[in-house]
Amino acid sequence: MSRISNLSIKQLSRKFDEKLLCPKEHTLEVFKNIKRNNNDINAFITLSEEFALKKAEESANRIALGKKLKLDGILVACKDNFCTKGIRTTCGSIMLKNFVPTYNATVYDKLEKAGAILVGKTNLDQYGMGSGTVDSIFGPTKNVWSENLNNPRICGGSSGGSASAVAANFCSTALGSDTGGSTRNPASYSGVIGFKPTYGLLSRHGLIPLVNSMDVPGILTKTVDDCVDIFNTIAGPDDLDSTTIKKSFNPIELSENFNLKNVKIGIPKEYNCEGLTSEVLEAWTKMADFLEENGARVEEISMPYTTASIFVYSILNQCEVASNMARYDGIEYGHRADDESSTENLYSKTRAEGFNGVVKNRILAGNYFLLRKNYEKYFLKALKVRRLVSDDFKKAFSKIDLLLTPTTLSDAPLLSDFTKNNNRDQCAVQDFCTCPANMAGVPALSIPIKLSSNNLPISLQLMGPNFSEKLIFNTAKFIENRVDFYLNYNKLKL
Ligand code: GLN
Repeated sequence: MSRISNLSIKQLSRKFDEKLLCPKEHTLEVFKNIKRNNNDINAFITLSEEFALKKAEESANRIALGKKLKLDGILVACKDNFCTKGIRTTCGSIMLKNFVPTYNATVYDKLEKAGAILVGKTNLDQYGMGSGTVDSIFGPTKNVWSENLNNPRICGGSSGGSASAVAANFCSTALGSDTGGSTRNPASYSGVIGFKPTYGLLSRHGLIPLVNSMDVPGILTKTVDDCVDIFNTIAGPDDLDSTTIKKSFNPIELSENFNLKNVKIGIPKEYNCEGLTSEVLEAWTKMADFLEENGARVEEISMPYTTASIFVYSILNQCEVASNMARYDGIEYGHRADDESSTENLYSKTRAEGFNGVVKNRILAGNYFLLRKNYEKYFLKALKVRRLVSDDFKKAFSKIDLLLTPTTLSDAPLLSDFTKNNNRDQCAVQDFCTCPANMAGVPALSIPIKLSSNNLPISLQLMGPNFSEKLIFNTAKFIENRVDFYLNYNKLKL
């Protein structure tokens, strides 16, 4: 593994400042690594090498002129559901296989304007519907920690390409999206930081929608510091997304001498659920003890609607999916079937060819829930229970500051085992600990803690009330400094 590409954003930036490294040299070296290893991992759908080298040249020129931008020379990847001007954006689907956007998603645009260099677009479950990165027309992405890449582990999903790209040192950071856990789940399995902000702090403009009321862009990095740097660069109001929070965003600075003295941490007992492995339970319990030993007040609490979350999430997800997917009709953009015998035939053939079975199932189920006779029974009822889930968080945060839970119930499953179950059953297990935060809109972060007996990452999740990002990051950094998971990357053979 290259030592240079394993440096943090600040360390790399310093090397550029001191002229010890030039963005072009760095970019070329990382592309060498990508070419050597990406075939095994399949993290990318599209690589943008030519574009990246052009951007690296621009960064180098700015540095030479003393006009360096904050992220000049820093390599980033973007999940392939963020629009990137002139670079195809597929959502892992036939429908958008050749779709080339004419504009950038705001969050990516902010990275580009800060000097960051796009290495490519990463693999995902089709339209972000999944939790394994196994349902893309470009094939599955493999977990970089797999003992044997011929019998690989899943990397988690749906932002699995982004998580793998960060873990494999194909970039310093990658954007993911998080509707029910899609940033935190692959972060957990891939041993990287996965952060979902408070809903509305990051613009969704140009993020191809899955569930508008829950979607947020997510950030994947190796370290908490890197995550804060990227978050500070891309957060804030956006006129192009009316759901962004209007107040201007104050960049977060981590406290030099943070301690856990007055921090109250809740351990919600419902997260100790069926299927939680003893290794994850042990990591969770030990971390709770460790935080207590270091001054935090740790107490067990109850969030009784946690177990209802998965059902409610599934209904609301499918309803919003049914409505969002209506735009793909073969007329304006995307795939168009070869059948112009009638408008109806064109629509139906286009959609039959363009979507995979998972997407079609969700559209069908969503439309069923939204039928006039079912609307109240399913959709309205699910909205009411969503409120109860959200109230669970409100009540919890009136007593405690942060929640500590597992992110996933186990280490990464084998791809061959995972794909024996259908998408709905996969999600029911994978999203258990992550989807409640999306329904409440609160921020959450997954942090790797240790390696399991299979030598695979085990991670935990911190959640806090809206706008508690600073406390989450400070606490995560406190944990990161003590667990030193980062050092395990030296064991990877990539
Ligand atoms: N697994 C969930 C789903 O398929 C989460 C998706 C996501 O967060 N994009 O809906």
